[in-house]
Amino acid sequence: RFLSLEGGEGVGKSTQVKRLAAALEARGLHVVLTREPGGTEGAEGVRSLLMQGDVARWSAHAETLLFAAARADHVEKLIRPAVDAGSWVLCDRYIDSTRAYQGAQDIDDAAILALHGFGSKGLLPDRTLVLDLPDGEGHARSLERDGGAADRFGARGPDFHQAVAAQFRRIAAAEPDRVRLIDAAGAVDDVTTSLLDALTDLLP
Ligand code: C5P
Repeated sequence: RFLSLEGGEGVGKSTQVKRLAAALEARGLHVVLTREPGGTEGAEGVRSLLMQGDVARWSAHAETLLFAAARADHVEKLIRPAVDAGSWVLCDRYIDSTRAYQGAQDIDDAAILALHGFGSKGLLPDRTLVLDLPDGEGHARSLERDGGAADRFGARGPDFHQAVAAQFRRIAAAEPDRVRLIDAAGAVDDVTTSLLDALTDLLP
C-alpha cells in the first residue's frame, strides 16, 4: 500500500508522520517511511537545490519541474519497488503538495498532473491524509515554533498559507475516495487516532 501525509506549515505533520508509522508497525505492517522532495540520493540532491536560499531563487515553473523530477526518481527507485514488495510506504508530502504550493502560485493543476503522468507514471497513493487547521492557526504555530525559519514561504505571509490550505481542501473535495481531510486542532493522540480511522478500510 502507498499512503501520503500532507498539510501546510505548522499543522503537526512531522510529529504525526512518525506516530502514524509507529502505529502501522504496531499492527504488524512493514512500513517504509520516506519524504519528499527526497527519499533517494538524486531526489535529496534536488531537495538541497530547492531548500537552499531564498524562495525567490526559482521561478514557480522551474520549481514545479524540480519537484516533479525529484518525485520521478523517488517513485522509480524507492516507492514503487517497496510497494511491489508488499511494504506500506508512508510518504511525508507527495504530488498534492505540488498541487497546493505551486497551485497557490497559479501553476495549472492539469499541467502538474500531466508532468506527474510523464515523470512518475501517474502513481497516486491509495490514501492521502491532509492535516487541516483553521486559517491562520498553522502559520501562527510555525512562527511560534521556529520564527518561520523552516518555512520557505514565511516571507509571503498568511495569505499564501491560506491559499495553500484552500488548495488542499479543494483537492480533498474533488477526490474524496483518495484524499481525506483530518482535523489537526485536537490533542496529539486524538489526531493520530483520526489518521488511523481514515485508513480502516485499507488495514488488514
Ligand atoms: O515537509 P516540510 O515542511 O519539511 O517541507 C519543506 C518545505 O518545502 C516547506 O516549507 C514547504 O512549504 C515547501 N514545499 C514546497 N512545494 C512543495 C512541497 C514542499 O514549496 N511541493
